[in-house]
Amino acid sequence: MRTPLVAGNWKMHGHLSANADLLTALVSCADLQTKALEVLVCPPSIYLAQAHSLLAASAIQLGAQNFHPQNQGAFTGEIAAPMLQEFGVSYALVGHSERRSLFAEDDTFLLAKCQAALSARITPILCVGESLEEYEKGQGLEVVRAQVTSVVRALNPEEVQSLVIAYEPVWAIGTGLTATPEYAQQVHAEIRDQVAHWSEPSIAQQLRILYGGSVKPENAAALFAMPDVDGALVGGASLDAASFIAICQAA
Ligand code: PEP
Repeated sequence: MRTPLVAGNWKMHGHLSANADLLTALVSCADLQTKALEVLVCPPSIYLAQAHSLLAASAIQLGAQNFHPQNQGAFTGEIAAPMLQEFGVSYALVGHSERRSLFAEDDTFLLAKCQAALSARITPILCVGESLEEYEKGQGLEVVRAQVTSVVRALNPEEVQSLVIAYEPVWAIGTGLTATPEYAQQVHAEIRDQVAHWSEPSIAQQLRILYGGSVKPENAAALFAMPDVDGALVGGASLDAASFIAICQAA
């Protein structure tokens, strides 16, 4: 039995007063405080302290959008996983398509980030997904398989056990286009098979695989009805309390 996880990726949005309004609305929704569901918000790093304090009395968890794989050093402008840990961060995104494409984060760097997060007792949410061009050429499964393999085969079973994977077709992120539930299911099942192959079948069965890419209240229930869709990574809709709550309620 896998507990669904709904994570909100705020990206580079927010300011102190809007964050406070959004977090207060989430905290006051009883449906988001149940043991049957995990809810996570990932604000920009500079607002982690604010979110940490506003979420203190709630079951809603805190995630980071980014960090550097080294624990300390001459990396001006960067923050390290142990620093995130001090601010109550329990999850961190790794390999979001915007980090891969805009900041040239490659598979080696992403593996190092996963290992650094795990060492700091932070759960990495490894994001994978094919581009529009790859999708149109029918290469989606192949691309996703390679991205999953590059990380999972280098981790030991205990580490894989502490991983979450998010399938986010790049062509669906922020575009309003969503994978059909059937296509999402096909890719999620393939991810689970890959994890079983490189790790252990029982670990693959427990692994949570989230879908991301224009998830909205209108399409969430159909996606969550798929047997291998264990929640969502939500971008745009996570900035609106009513939409994010509705997505969580569908999970
Ligand atoms: C994301 O940023 O991970 C994402 C899925 O964005 P959106 O929901 O806006 O497509």
